[in-house]
Amino acid sequence: MLTKRGSGLSRREFVQLAGGTLAALGMSGALTPKLARALTKAAAGRPKVVWLHFASDTGCTESLIKSDHPSAGELVLDILSVDYHESIMAAAGKQADEVLAKAVAGKDYICVVEGGIPTVPGHGMIGGREMLEIAKEVCGSAVAVVAIGSCAVDGGVPAAKPNPSRILGVDQALNMKGKVINLPCCPVNPEWLIGTVVYITTMGKVPELDGKGRPKMFYGRKIHDNCPRRTHFDGGRFVEQFGSKEEAEGYCLYKLGCKGPEAWSECPKSRWNSKESWCIEIGSPCLGCSENNWTDHFAPFYSKLADVALPYGDLTADKIGIGLAVATGAAIAGHAVLKAVKGKGDEAKKE
Ligand code: SF4
Ligand code: SF4
Repeated sequence: MLTKRGSGLSRREFVQLAGGTLAALGMSGALTPKLARALTKAAAGRPKVVWLHFASDTGCTESLIKSDHPSAGELVLDILSVDYHESIMAAAGKQADEVLAKAVAGKDYICVVEGGIPTVPGHGMIGGREMLEIAKEVCGSAVAVVAIGSCAVDGGVPAAKPNPSRILGVDQALNMKGKVINLPCCPVNPEWLIGTVVYITTMGKVPELDGKGRPKMFYGRKIHDNCPRRTHFDGGRFVEQFGSKEEAEGYCLYKLGCKGPEAWSECPKSRWNSKESWCIEIGSPCLGCSENNWTDHFAPFYSKLADVALPYGDLTADKIGIGLAVATGAAIAGHAVLKAVKGKGDEAKKE
């Protein structure tokens, strides 16, 4: 048995957990022994996480609790040492302040931030202290800072116009460019958070990031390029109205406002709620929540994106739709002519 604080996992179970985690991340199974070694090592002194909550609806914590590769219990009890998390810890009030002070004293922790940071004095306080001040202090001493969910990345929904509290993402509020790993979406997919932490633990470095600070392994492809409805888009078959026959057929949601052509993330592969489903599969157009300023930038959500290019030439989806309608009309007309000619022929034969 592994010697692990509070864990009864056998080595075999532990390696299975490691393998399952890698598979869930789409990483090579060859890394399993390395991950198991890293996690075993971590088990003796698990990576410390301090989880801060600012302006948000706690949706990312809810999302994490739904994780099962590994489960939130395994993550919190076996892999990480979550030393401070306001939603799941028993301490409150002064006792919670003391827990936080103790957790950050060693400057040896990963800081996970959930929620945007109000920057107008008095608009976001915890225990009489400004959220901005707490963020500066705790993020400033962390080994790494991971901003989870759109609110922590760029303010998200709470920062939608007019944003009277001037809520900003961690990177913007603290000007920590290069130090923050951004995991947007509303909420974050738990696999991406677990994957990022597992990657840092296994590889001893930050995963490769894109220009917006997002790990490329989770935000490296457009939803549109990975979407199961893509053949309908390419074929010009669109849903024009909810409740229609075309919707029941699972046609492309572009004309109902799908932002998949401009949203970068692995949503079609990672999925949500134990991989049960995801937005487009349940019939909702993608709202583009993996992108910066998505609430203002992509509103109104059910209006279609302008001029989305198609793979074959400079045609837009609209033109293809019209083209198809004309082609279909021509085909119907042609079919009617043939039928009429054939009918006449049959009548002639009878005579
Ligand atoms: S527009 Fe949306 S529904 Fe259509 S193929 Fe692209 S991502 Fe899928
Ligand atoms: S499919 Fe679109 S709206 Fe849904 S979580 Fe992914 S990026 Fe956000």
